[in-house]
Amino acid sequence: MPAQYDAVVIGAGIIGTAIAFALSKNGWHTLVADPQPGAGQGATSSSLAMVRTQYSTREGTALAWEGFHCWQDWSAFLDLDTDEPIAPFHPAGVLTFKTPNNGFLKHQLEFSRELGIPYEEWPLSKLQRTFPDWDLNTFGPPVLSDNPRFGTNSKEELRSVFFPKGGYCPDPQLAAHNLQRAAQQHHAEFRFGCAAQAIHADNGRVTGVTLSNGEKISCQIVVNAAGPHAEAISALAGLAQAHKIKTRVIQHETVHVRCPQAASADHTPIMLYDTDIGSYVRADTGENILIGSVGAQDEVELPVDPDDFDRNLSTQAIEPLYRLAQRIPTLGIPNTLSGVADLWDVSDDWIPIYDRTDLAGFYVAIGTSGNQFKTAPAVGELMTALINACENGKDHDHEPVTFRLTRTGHTIALDFFSRNRQPNPASSLSVLG
Ligand SMILES: Cc1cc2nc3c(=O)[nH]c(=O)nc-3n(C[C@H](O)[C@H](O)[C@H](O)COP(=O)(O)OP(=O)(O)OC[C@H]3O[C@@H](n4cnc5c(N)ncnc54)[C@H](O)[C@@H]3O)c2cc1C
Repeated sequence: MPAQYDAVVIGAGIIGTAIAFALSKNGWHTLVADPQPGAGQGATSSSLAMVRTQYSTREGTALAWEGFHCWQDWSAFLDLDTDEPIAPFHPAGVLTFKTPNNGFLKHQLEFSRELGIPYEEWPLSKLQRTFPDWDLNTFGPPVLSDNPRFGTNSKEELRSVFFPKGGYCPDPQLAAHNLQRAAQQHHAEFRFGCAAQAIHADNGRVTGVTLSNGEKISCQIVVNAAGPHAEAISALAGLAQAHKIKTRVIQHETVHVRCPQAASADHTPIMLYDTDIGSYVRADTGENILIGSVGAQDEVELPVDPDDFDRNLSTQAIEPLYRLAQRIPTLGIPNTLSGVADLWDVSDDWIPIYDRTDLAGFYVAIGTSGNQFKTAPAVGELMTALINACENGKDHDHEPVTFRLTRTGHTIALDFFSRNRQPNPASSLSVLG
């Protein structure tokens, strides 16, 4: 006799655990399966977990703003009835620049005004006072270090915008574990060390899952939240390459160096999205910083097999650091680089797919495109609203469900995340979303 659950969530990353929490709070008896020994041990574990609100679409911005509200009071969001440790959230504003590659932030500022997200346009004098060691010339558009244009500046004024509401979670794996515990409080169950091995369907509707330990589960719905393994899971459901929007898996790297000059003069915590040089930065422990790329001309994607990839840094990993040395000339470049290499499951337009599928009862929360840690708590609620509507007979493909973000009061029509949308022309087509 198979074990009976209402819902099976495949994957216990930040997305799967957030969905499990929201579903179980909503009365769905939920089982989560993951081959790792604990929650958040896939791509989530390497996340820089930066929470910012600058997206090039209204929906992306609104979801990130809602996510910020969850993270800034993580304890209230979880509402755990024990005093176990919870993941810290460090508030930090976001400094970014008006550059041609982000449309001079026209849309981001428009959406911020509409959604009530505060921002300040900083004069150069304020930037100079805040970061006295920085070179505030413009170097863009960002190029690789072997490009003859690398390091040359146009003497144009750097136009900066500061968004005071943001921050980061220095322990993303613990955040996923917290969500696991919060879901368990609502009777969710977790099977670690167990991969989903088969997905069963009958008459066009999902009926259950078989796990790698041989356990057979019967259920009403299945949610694919397997991150970089999402395509393999959809294939188990007979949905390989079934959607108009495809996903691919690429390697993303962040490096770790000491750089006291990255801190603001008064030590106010600030995260940097420097679209002029193509690097992003956040503080790590002590005087160390973490750096990654937001894209540069001729930078190549590193496609990888999620079951067989090299966790060593590639030769390209040093490039965002070289570019940062344009902004912070006293930044030392170490001979031996340290950092992490992990995976992004990227959709065609770098916007996630949160949707039903052509197999009734089978849902996807995939293609998070390197930018959905911040939104995960809100994504759990969004997916639960979508699932409730579809399971109650709503024809989401023809009459899209609208979702109200409860903390910020904004609404999103969920066809924005459709598996069969046209690639969104407003997207930055980058990790910036
Ligand atoms: C280096 C890096 C930096 C990032 N920085 C940021 C940032 O600053 N801000 C931000 O918002 N986002 C950031 N992201 C993106 C963010 O971390 C991801 O969008 C998010 O963690 C994806 O979560 P997930 O749950 O979908 O995937 P994962 O965490 O990979 O979880 C998927 C889970 O599925 C499991 N699984 C696989 N196969 C099976 C199977 N057969 N059965 C059951 N389970 C299975 C895996 O074991 C895994 O635990 C970053 C990502 C990386 C890699």
